[in-house]
Amino acid sequence: MDFGFTEEQELLRQSVREFCEAEISQEKVREWEETLDFMPQDLWDKMASLGFFSMSVPPEYGGEGGDMVTAMIGLEEISKASTAVALGVGATIGFGARPLVVLGTEEQKQEYLHRIARGELKFSLALTEPAGGTDILGAISTYADLDGEDYVINGQKIYITGAHVADYLTTVAITDRENPKRARALSIFMVKADTPGIEIRLIPKVSTHSCGSCEVFYSDVRVPAANLLGTLNNGWYDLLTTLNPERIGVAMMSVGVAEAVFDACLAYSREREAFGKPIGQFMVIQHYLADIAVGIENARNLVYKCAWLQDAGKPYHVEATMAGLYASKMALDAATVGMEIFGGYGVTMEADIQRYWRDSQQMVFSPISNEMSKNFIAQCYGLPRSY
Ligand SMILES: Cc1cc2nc3c(=O)[nH]c(=O)nc-3n(C[C@H](O)[C@H](O)[C@H](O)COP(=O)(O)OP(=O)(O)OC[C@H]3O[C@@H](n4cnc5c(N)ncnc54)[C@H](O)[C@@H]3O)c2cc1C
Repeated sequence: MDFGFTEEQELLRQSVREFCEAEISQEKVREWEETLDFMPQDLWDKMASLGFFSMSVPPEYGGEGGDMVTAMIGLEEISKASTAVALGVGATIGFGARPLVVLGTEEQKQEYLHRIARGELKFSLALTEPAGGTDILGAISTYADLDGEDYVINGQKIYITGAHVADYLTTVAITDRENPKRARALSIFMVKADTPGIEIRLIPKVSTHSCGSCEVFYSDVRVPAANLLGTLNNGWYDLLTTLNPERIGVAMMSVGVAEAVFDACLAYSREREAFGKPIGQFMVIQHYLADIAVGIENARNLVYKCAWLQDAGKPYHVEATMAGLYASKMALDAATVGMEIFGGYGVTMEADIQRYWRDSQQMVFSPISNEMSKNFIAQCYGLPRSY
């Protein structure tokens, strides 16, 4: 058993860390969170030229290819600097590059992957609907009906991250109206976001201000049949093939934000004084920090183990769900304790800890709620569905 990273991976971590210190400093992140609804385009371009997107694209389509462990090293550093930037970049990798690599036809791969690798395209996943995200199969009522060479999409999506800046919305819709089994009636389409009939509205939210989430309205939106991704009516199962890597990625975002919490709390507990001594000298503060450190260590190990399992071609769906569940709860708990360590300063908008606390709220239910994760894990041990 080897828990070490290769020399190359350590070098990559160092260079991403230096990049983040220079380009995603906390001063910049504070300003973006107040003024932007998506990361700056020049930051996106710099990340593209450094190969952040090409890592997820195979060499034959203009990328560098790369293993999941290495991708997670980059994501860990970026998430520590900014959850919003990690989400912004992650959406295109997770909902553009990855589904295209797994599900795309040769023509689609040639058409899109080179551009994704160069950072020329942004993607969002449009799955969740207003009637519910957890029971999406019961809630979905967006239809795509074949009309000549096109599908015509009508419906509504909600909370779609990055839709307002996306070039393509990876949209899930019902294509078989007759089939009562929704899991056998869905398909995935790459929908150009500027197609007539699409309206997008940003939803103000508590977390990740500089990575906006949106309502998306589809009204007679015509999509060429060639933009079907994967197999007709098999969209649910096709989508599932790309969800496990997403779970690992979101778990790593939780680890990153918890690491930012730990660093901020450690520094504050050294500098803030009460009763003539640094608060870090009080046992309760030390225990808070020790608990956060243990949580990070556990979550980080689990996430890297999932990445290793993926690279080794072994199954990891249970572990990926565990990683998302554990890491998101750990990060939220760490940030909540962090707010206590910061006392009154914590609730001011001048302290970064409130941002970590706000950002860590969304990972406990997105992409899948922790309650549903527990249901799934229990079912994997043979227990019956509780719902
Ligand atoms: C900031 C943000 C970004 C997002 N980005 C995207 C995106 O890019 N693309 C996209 O498609 N979606 C996105 N989502 C949607 C996200 O995946 C859903 O919010 C999530 O799946 C939960 O669905 P819901 O919010 O409708 O909650 P609901 O389904 O209404 O659930 C409400 C509560 O009921 C609980 N619950 C429901 N059923 C059960 C059950 N059987 N057992 C136990 N508890 C249960 C849930 O756990 C939860 O606590 C995003 C959401 C947010 C808030």
